[in-house]
Amino acid sequence: YAKRKSTKHIQYFNQELLSQYDNNIEIERDLKAAIRGRQFELYYQPLKDLQQGGYIGAEALIRWNHPRKGVVYPGSFIDIAEQSGQINAIGEWVLEAACKQLNLWQHTNVDIRMHVNVAARQFFSDNLYEQVWTLLTRYRIKPHTLILEITETELMGDVRYATMLCHQLTELGVGLAIDDFGTGYSSMKYLKQFPITKLKIDRSFIMDINHNYESREIVSAIIAMAKALNLSLTAEGIETPEQQQFLVDNGCDHAQGYLYSKPVRENEFRQFLSQVNDNVIAPSEPLSNMA
Ligand code: C2E
Ligand code: MG
Ligand code: MG
Ligand code: MG
Repeated sequence: YAKRKSTKHIQYFNQELLSQYDNNIEIERDLKAAIRGRQFELYYQPLKDLQQGGYIGAEALIRWNHPRKGVVYPGSFIDIAEQSGQINAIGEWVLEAACKQLNLWQHTNVDIRMHVNVAARQFFSDNLYEQVWTLLTRYRIKPHTLILEITETELMGDVRYATMLCHQLTELGVGLAIDDFGTGYSSMKYLKQFPITKLKIDRSFIMDINHNYESREIVSAIIAMAKALNLSLTAEGIETPEQQQFLVDNGCDHAQGYLYSKPVRENEFRQFLSQVNDNVIAPSEPLSNMA
């Protein structure tokens, strides 16, 4: 009986694996058309300054306007693109679209920083530095307004190269943030060695902050550590006023989450900013960089 049961299990497992495989192949194929056909769009989620109250930044988050499936979220294609190498072309598009947008914002007095996610393979490609340099020049970006988000695990992949690249990028003046902090593999020793300017505490710690003693302790320890290392700190995934209150009380700098806004299209983002930041004028015509 035990044997039959396990065979069944294996069959089921294989079927799952096969359909997963088919699905990945299909996505990889569709991504080729997406890269050529400009089916990507950046959405923006505001970053709130918890101590001052205003909004100081936006995280650019990619969306795929799929001709048949509609809006596809990065969770279902970024890993596949990373494995196939397509992430390099996608990442280049993201960086350029974000810089173009930042330039338009700077021309219309929208004075905020732009956070851009950088995948491991893109980070270790041999031309990230050159790309960033070119874009800063082409779009006349004030370097400190661009912040690249990378994960701990990415940095640990090749510590020597990562340290060198981080130093080069910092010399250009751009900011570096560690994304999903606390979930990856990292070492405190290296954290001090990388010229990082910012940490983003992962949403998983914020989620049960009001119900779980350990999560509260972890978050306040991370806040204390960031202060000691002179790093600015953003908490991700704030959904309730209670979570916000805990972070304010404990001296966390910035917050991002559905409590303020979901990631939205550029027009809607500027509409949002015009309501909460005095200096931003409501959009009259679209500034979208969607191709
Ligand atoms: P991330 O960089 O950690 O981005 C934050 C994710 O959390 C976003 O999901 C955002 O929509 C979601 N989020 C924000 N606030 C809340 C909240 O209050 N509650 C909940 N439940 N979720 C919240 P999204 O846009 O689906 O992106 C998922 C991940 O995909 C990102 O995680 C990032 O790692 C990756 N990604 C997104 N855009 C890009 C990109 O342009 N390039 C690369 N390489 N990766 C990207
Ligand atoms: Mg991020
Ligand atoms: Mg991330
Ligand atoms: Mg994150």
